Amino acid sequence: MANRGKLFVVSGPAGAGKSEIVKALLKKHSDVGLSVSCTTRAPREGEINGVSYHFVTEERFQELIDQNAFYEWAHVHQNRYGTLKSAVEEGLNAGRDLILEIDVQGCLQVLKQNPDATGVFICPPSRENLEKRLRNRGTETEESIRVRLGNVAREVNTAYQYDYVIVHQDWDDVSNALEIAVDELYAIITAKRLEKKNRIGFLDSLSESLLK
Ligand code: 5GP
Repeated sequence: MANRGKLFVVSGPAGAGKSEIVKALLKKHSDVGLSVSCTTRAPREGEINGVSYHFVTEERFQELIDQNAFYEWAHVHQNRYGTLKSAVEEGLNAGRDLILEIDVQGCLQVLKQNPDATGVFICPPSRENLEKRLRNRGTETEESIRVRLGNVAREVNTAYQYDYVIVHQDWDDVSNALEIAVDELYAIITAKRLEKKNRIGFLDSLSESLLK
């Protein structure tokens, strides 16, 4: 039987580039999987039902909550998002290492209920960098920038509850910022795989074969 896979929860403030990093990692490393979440938000152009998300109605989402089908769920920007227990269990039982790329509230729920999960917080490099990205969008007012920075401050405060922190550098300053962040995330996954507690089976059989 395959060893049970490991669970990695990746989160961080909006604008830090977490989904970009996770997407690039999955493209580069096919030995890592992603759990497809449910959401009540409408699909964006190019998004495929069952691949990007399971797009469901409010009623269906509520039914899933009532059936206790979610591993975690949260309200994010007026919509609801949730990780299905079945998706996580199937992946891990098949021996697949899985990433949940979810918001900070959901991440903290998972880390609290599952001490074996590894929490990775993706951070912007500085206030100036975040402010610059928000201003560059050209859609934010001074007031909304102030509100967003306040929200990020609260989210960064939760980073102390994670196991690892990746700083996603500014790609204007560091041209391979994305590549560095992807390599750092994969290094975390590799280190967890190599932990002694995950190598006991191998060590036992090696010792046994050496004594034959
Ligand atoms: P978007 O609508 O841009 O795809 O995602 C918005 C936010 O929802 C992102 O921060 C993303 O990480 C988060 N998110 C996506 N899936 C889940 C989920 O299953 N649970 C939680 N708690 N957050 C999620």
